[in-house]
Amino acid sequence: MKQSYNPYDNVLKVVQDAAAILGYNDSDIEAIKYPERELKVSIPVRMDDGTTHVFQGYRIQHSTSRGPAKGGIRFHPDVNADEVRALAAWMTFKCAVVNIPYGGGKGGVVCDPSKLSENEIRAITRRYTAAIAPLIGPEQDIPAPDVGTNAAVMGWIMDTYSMLKGHCIHGVVTGKPLELGGALGRNEATGRGVMFTTLNILKKLGIPSEGTTVAVQGAGNVGSVSAKLLHEAGLKVVAISDVSGGIYNPDGLDIPAILSYLAADRRNLLKDFNEDGTTHISNEELLELPVTVLVPAALENQINAGNAGKIQAKLIVEAANGPTTSEADEILAKRGIEVVPDILANAGGVVVSYFEWVQNIQSVSWTEDEVNKKLKDIMDAAFESVWDLTQEKHTTLRMGAYLIALKRVVDAKSARAIWP
Ligand code: NAD
Repeated sequence: MKQSYNPYDNVLKVVQDAAAILGYNDSDIEAIKYPERELKVSIPVRMDDGTTHVFQGYRIQHSTSRGPAKGGIRFHPDVNADEVRALAAWMTFKCAVVNIPYGGGKGGVVCDPSKLSENEIRAITRRYTAAIAPLIGPEQDIPAPDVGTNAAVMGWIMDTYSMLKGHCIHGVVTGKPLELGGALGRNEATGRGVMFTTLNILKKLGIPSEGTTVAVQGAGNVGSVSAKLLHEAGLKVVAISDVSGGIYNPDGLDIPAILSYLAADRRNLLKDFNEDGTTHISNEELLELPVTVLVPAALENQINAGNAGKIQAKLIVEAANGPTTSEADEILAKRGIEVVPDILANAGGVVVSYFEWVQNIQSVSWTEDEVNKKLKDIMDAAFESVWDLTQEKHTTLRMGAYLIALKRVVDAKSARAIWP
């Protein structure tokens, strides 16, 4: 990641632009510019070799105006305070655009899970959970998976928090294993939402989905499920990548074979995957392929001023959070490339996290069909409202999404007024 890049500046820029269109004055949005609460923690862990290593971690609540803070926990070497702040703020606006009763939060630990044993990851998770325990809880702040974390990590968070409180508390975290109150459909929810959104935008643009080419950057939870469901929906996924690089086949990849290779062992990387007709490419090359749909599903700052002029895709569906910088957004808009923003396109995960939390609180369970249907209804409705406003205001989809989301956050803040 480039040193000068600060994703939180990106958030502030779009918020200020949206506020200007909405006719807000500085006071209307002043409080939204600052995260409500930030906690930095040190996490001592006894490593497998007997040494002690202290990891740094964060939990940041950007806003609780519309409800408890909600947002994932990232385990990645590049985690830093500005990144977590930006991720927390994106959660505020994501929950607002799909209109679920949450604010935004995010957490992270600076570590590289690919170099840690399961024991070490569990030890980090437990000590981190204990350190942030004063902030989290079903009514305060509800973590979920993000880059480098998964259902198993969420299960350890739920167990640690429950042990500290002395009783079982399912609703403290979402994206849990099914045995611990996880929701059917949560694991696939973000990618499923990306699929619904891609089909929605293709329809609006009059592009048939059958055979439409797609490149997916990232093959973790979001990238792999997006690729799988877009493939099943009849699109032609021609490229996919992970941290080690990508693979490309202009005639279409065998997505089920690739995903079963990756699922077989968490250490499997695409650089070692070989299949007739596929060539190995870099992540940079993947982003610049001549495809109709580009789905960045890895990290922030992937499409920036350096490569936005070289993107050949007709449209970008942001499955990752913050993959496109503000400078790149302007270049893409001038070039007529549609960008479906992260706060809309990848909201499926938090929507089904909300369903999980609702089921946990009520001690009920819904079928997977119910979950998927309710998810589709919310994603379709949010997409339509963003699309309509975008057409009315002659602006980008990102601005349309922020106009809706910012208004909801400002309205909630003003209805509550400033305490005391
Ligand atoms: P993950 O850890 O499951 O997968 C991350 C993927 O990105 C892996 O394939 C990894 O190899 C790849 N990657 C890591 N570093 C990379 C690099 N420098 N270049 C290219 N690829 C790289 O994470 P995930 O949960 O799939 O999250 C991916 C993105 O989606 C993130 O931006 C995350 O914030 C966002 N997101 C996740 C969820 C969710 O439910 N998990 C929900 C909404 C948004």
